[in-house]
Amino acid sequence: MLWTPVLCLCLCVQSLAVPVPAHRATEHRKLLLVSFDGFRWDYDRDVDTPHLDAMAKDGVKATYVTPAFLTITSPTHFTILTGKYIENHGVIHNMWFNTSTWEKKSYYKSQFVNEWWDSGSLPIWITAQRQGLKAGSLHFPGTASTYQGESAFVREVEPENYNYSNETAWQENIDKVMESWFRGQDLDFVSMYFGEPDATGHRYGPDSPERRAMVQQVDRTVGYLRSSAERNGLSESLNIIITADHGMSTVYRNGLVEEIVLSKIPGFSFGDLSFHIVDFGPAGLLLPKEGRLDKVYSALKGAHPHLHVYKKEELPVHLHYSQNERILPIILWADPGYVINGYFPVQFHKGEHGYDNQALDMKPFFRAVGPDFRKNLLVEPFETVNIYPLMCHMLKITPEPNDGQLELIQHMLTSSIQPENEGSSDNDILTSVFTGLGAVAGFLVVVFVVLISRGIYKHRRNKSSSTDEGKIDKCQSETKQTSF
Ligand SMILES: [Zn+2]
Repeated sequence: MLWTPVLCLCLCVQSLAVPVPAHRATEHRKLLLVSFDGFRWDYDRDVDTPHLDAMAKDGVKATYVTPAFLTITSPTHFTILTGKYIENHGVIHNMWFNTSTWEKKSYYKSQFVNEWWDSGSLPIWITAQRQGLKAGSLHFPGTASTYQGESAFVREVEPENYNYSNETAWQENIDKVMESWFRGQDLDFVSMYFGEPDATGHRYGPDSPERRAMVQQVDRTVGYLRSSAERNGLSESLNIIITADHGMSTVYRNGLVEEIVLSKIPGFSFGDLSFHIVDFGPAGLLLPKEGRLDKVYSALKGAHPHLHVYKKEELPVHLHYSQNERILPIILWADPGYVINGYFPVQFHKGEHGYDNQALDMKPFFRAVGPDFRKNLLVEPFETVNIYPLMCHMLKITPEPNDGQLELIQHMLTSSIQPENEGSSDNDILTSVFTGLGAVAGFLVVVFVVLISRGIYKHRRNKSSSTDEGKIDKCQSETKQTSF
């Protein structure tokens, strides 16, 4: 009879509906990492920033983040790219230097010194590419160098004396990354760098109207970036992290304070040094001549109430700035508001960075938005070493050894609010399967009832049923075997 195979189908389909292990999702979404150099954590407090506010509402905002020490551009950016403290990744200064020849290279020229950057740590571009992804980088510090012979798949290095402040160029670069790199070339990860509001903060000071105007330019650019992602159909496939390398602090000028000038300190002589890096903001590195370390150290220690002087091996552990042979034996830094001058004051910036990373003025901002980030979530401060393992987790790649801890910031991801997160999409699929099968089963039960009624009617009419009953027993028996 017709209903016999239908009943078998019904039961057999139900037996297939036993939960099967959910497969792990291996698909990742695209990720854009953006740095606005020197964007202090509180720069949105005295300026209208509608686009940054919207981003915080649509995604995640950290109160602030703590950069690595020394709080200057190349070292702290390389921490974001590697997840390592500066003593562990080796890019210990903006300037490459040679203590034997006294040669120093500028920030820009140091970008091209491969051995300065490539000293055993791999930035995320290389790690991603070795695991089958495609990475790109535009102007991000470290882009010009190669790492074990490899570089980002697509990269753009700015020319020397580049104008880092041109808003039109910012928009063109954003469209290039969205249209050509993400959509056209299907890149998985891109890092992007903007040289502001750092330059304006240095020149005019962090409390100036010029800095506030530049923050509005950054805010417009964040709005432009998100609308460009939308125009290119990337809203559902692209996650965006926006942060910075360090903050900015006002420098006391015009005789307000006693300047730190090393040559004026009694007992100190540049003649006792075989190499030094000073006159570059609030920090300095000294290499005393053979046998003169204690003399130099004793002269400087306690010489100025706002000058910190440490032997490399005695540096406070939280700074993570001693365990590297490139770091010179004596490390100096000043309190916020001061800079370190060598022979006489030659620094005229109204804003500076490079101070202790515990100083609030050195803390950058952090925002993140996209399909993998939770919405309207304010998270506690965290160290920027943690951004690297977060990015690797989002790209589903295995990170290199690093100093970050994913578990400290993983809660900002949507996956963290679904306990069986890895199976979340699979669970949805299973739910759909169960619902579908339930509907089929319900329909078949109706058919079954109709056919049974019809069978009984026929049975009563024909008074003949023995053959069909045998078929039912056979089917039920097979069904049980299938279920076990
Ligand atoms: Zn910087």
